[in-house]
Amino acid sequence: MTSLVFSNIGELTTNDPTVGDESVMGRIKGAALVIEDGKIVWTGSSANAPAADSEIDVEGSAIIPGFVDSHTHLVFAGERSEEFAARMAGERYDGGGIATTVNATRSASATELRECTQSRLDALRAHGVTTVEMKSGYDLTLEGEVRLCEIAGDFTEETTFLGAHVVPIEFKNRRDDYVALVAGEMLDRCAPLVRWADVFCDQGAFSVDEARLILSRASERGLSLRLHGNQLGHTGGIELAVELDAASVDHCTHVSDLDVEALAGSNTVATLLPGAEFSTKSEYPSGRHLLDAGVTVALATDCNPGTSYVTNMGLIIALAVREMGLSVDEALYAATMGGAKALRRPDIGHLRLGAKADLAILSVSKAAHFAYQPGASLVRAVHIGGKTPGFWG
Ligand SMILES: [Zn+2]
Repeated sequence: MTSLVFSNIGELTTNDPTVGDESVMGRIKGAALVIEDGKIVWTGSSANAPAADSEIDVEGSAIIPGFVDSHTHLVFAGERSEEFAARMAGERYDGGGIATTVNATRSASATELRECTQSRLDALRAHGVTTVEMKSGYDLTLEGEVRLCEIAGDFTEETTFLGAHVVPIEFKNRRDDYVALVAGEMLDRCAPLVRWADVFCDQGAFSVDEARLILSRASERGLSLRLHGNQLGHTGGIELAVELDAASVDHCTHVSDLDVEALAGSNTVATLLPGAEFSTKSEYPSGRHLLDAGVTVALATDCNPGTSYVTNMGLIIALAVREMGLSVDEALYAATMGGAKALRRPDIGHLRLGAKADLAILSVSKAAHFAYQPGASLVRAVHIGGKTPGFWG
C-alpha cells in the first residue's frame, strides 16, 4: 500500500460540506490531499498534511473532483459537419441525421471504432473527465449493437444499450417489428454486456408506450434505466422516467410545471446537455427553474457526431452558467456530483474520505475559471483511482 500527498493546492473543491468553508462545495484554501490504495484518506490544510510515500507539489493549482460525463455516444464512425453547417444556416433538427452515422458505423471495422473512441476519450480526459458513460445505438442491427456494447465495455463500466435510438431505415414500414427486436432478442444479447438501458423517447424516435415496453423488459433483465426525454417537445419522457425510477432523464429541453413537480419528488436526475441546444440552435431550458424547485441537476457533454460534438466539459459548464441560469458553483457541482448521481455512483463526483481518487489538477488557482475562460484548456493532469493516464502539461 503506497500513499501520495498533493500539497500546496491553491483551492481544493471536495463537494464535502463537512470540511473547509462548509459550503456544499467543501472548499479548502492552501490545502493538501492524501490518497492511499486509490482512495482519498485525508484532506485539510497543507501545513498539517501527514507524511506520505511520495509527494506532488501542485504549486498553487486548484484541484477538483474529476468530471463525471454521464451521457455520451462516443462509439461511432464518420462525421456530420455539413449537416451542422446546414442547421446553422436555418435547417431544423429532427433526428434524421442519425442514419448517416449508422451507415458509417456499420461500415467501420472494430479496430477503427476502438481508435476513434480512444481519441474522443483522450479529449474528454484532457478536459478533466474521469468517468464516462458510453451508449451503443449507431448500428441498430442485432450483431452490430452487440459489437458496439462490447467496444464500449473496453473503455468504461458505465455502458448503455441504446438499440432504441431511432427506427433504422430497413424497418421503416414495420416499426413494431423493430421495437419487438429491441425488446426481445437484441436486449437478450446486449443485456449481459452493459449496466444501463436507454431509449430516445421523442418526436421522430420512440413513443412513450414503446419506451415503457423496452425499458420494462430491460429492467426485468437486471439493467438500470435512463432515458432521452423532452428534447424536441413535450413528449412525456420525463413522466415516464419518473414512473420507471430511471436514474436520469436527459435533455429536458421542454419542461412543464408538472414535469418539474414530478422530478422534484423523485430519485430521477435531470441531466442537462447544453452542447445539444448550442449545436442544434435551440432554446436552452432553465436550469435555474429546476434547481429552485429542488430537482437534482447533472451536466454532461452528450458527445455525438450530429447534435453535440463536444469533448470539453469546461465549455458545457460555461454554457450552463451563461445560458441556463446556473451559478458557477452550481455548474461545477452538476458536472461532478450531479453526474455521479445520474449514474447512481456514491464513490465518485466528490473527494470525501473513502471516495475513489478521481481528480483533476488545474493550471489555474480557482475552479471558477471553467466558466470564466470558456473553452480554455485548464487541466494539467487527471488521476483516476490514484493513477494518472499519463499527461502533465
Ligand atoms: Zn444523447
